[in-house]
Amino acid sequence: MERQINTAITLGGPMSLATYMQLCLTHPKSGYYIKADPLGRAGDFITAPEVSQMFGEMIGIWLALTIAELGAGEFELVELGPGRGTLIRDALKALKRTPAGAQIALTLLEASPALASIQKSALEGQQARWIREIDDICLKGAPLLIIANEFFDALPLKQYQMADGAWHERVVGLRDNRRAFGLDPNPVPQESLPEAVQGAGEGEIFEHNQLAIDLMDGLSHRIAERGGALLAIDYGYAKTRTGDTFQAVEGHAPADPLAHPGRADLTAHVDFQSLAEAAGRAGAKAHPLLSQAEFLAQMGIGARAQALAAANPERAAGIKQDLERLVGAEQMGHLFKVLCVSDQGLAPYPFVPSPGREANT
Ligand code: SAH
Repeated sequence: MERQINTAITLGGPMSLATYMQLCLTHPKSGYYIKADPLGRAGDFITAPEVSQMFGEMIGIWLALTIAELGAGEFELVELGPGRGTLIRDALKALKRTPAGAQIALTLLEASPALASIQKSALEGQQARWIREIDDICLKGAPLLIIANEFFDALPLKQYQMADGAWHERVVGLRDNRRAFGLDPNPVPQESLPEAVQGAGEGEIFEHNQLAIDLMDGLSHRIAERGGALLAIDYGYAKTRTGDTFQAVEGHAPADPLAHPGRADLTAHVDFQSLAEAAGRAGAKAHPLLSQAEFLAQMGIGARAQALAAANPERAAGIKQDLERLVGAEQMGHLFKVLCVSDQGLAPYPFVPSPGREANT
């Protein structure tokens, strides 16, 4: 991978950060996600569903409530980037205790054959269809329910930096035979960047994820057309702004993103405003963002933690710790946010509070 990237730069010149990130993560032979299982305690990072079963269960309850809101019938449930399949397994377990569970067709979007095979084992006995491209989710059909946890942060993005009063794309080049960041000498037109970053000062960095926006556009068109809702949970910011959030993690520790291509997880924080705007343009409705802590509390995670602890007293301390990790302000509770996009007619709980619903959850 290193050789391939260096050769590409030598022959073709410095590459866009998006190209670099895409090669590192999903190169068909040596991409980070393609090669192995990066998740969990032995891997590079732990995601919410790997922390506790309660996370997937709360998603399952959300699905059941949304299905109740949509009315009876068939549904297509899609998960984007299911990792080890833990979230969907726990969510389906919770969902199957409700009448909605029986009418669901499951589709999983996964780029990594290694992870797809782990997902197959996690979902043993469950009918499912694996797809590689978002276009394989058809425009017509039953209402859609889409779940994405820590998916949008893994999509390749571009960075622009303000230098001498103009925006320039940040690129990956070679300096003394080592990979280094540089700037494309040709400035990009100021007006092609959003209003929110127009006053940026020298050196400021703006991140733009066109792939994430295009994906949200395609999914939102389908939701507007077929009915349904999408839940995107990720670390990120509510309003478009400047700031460098591109990061690498290797073995649970921050790493130099240019040092080991294909061996570190590369991500950036999600610009939720850009995704909400894309959903709106596509004819769907983006609901006000909730923090992960607010969302999980509204779904009843506190009561679930108590019930689990009462049933498993020997695990009570661990369950409390896991809960804190998911909702604690200094942990995942505030940094992680939940965006819900739905068809115009839907009022999905808890994004649209419904009086009387609280008593049922
Ligand atoms: N949702 C899981 C895993 C998050 S890691 C969890 O919460 O534990 C990101 C997931 O997205 C992995 O399954 C990875 O293989 C997948 N992925 C990353 N980029 C992708 C792409 N471009 N297309 C499809 N899947 C992708």
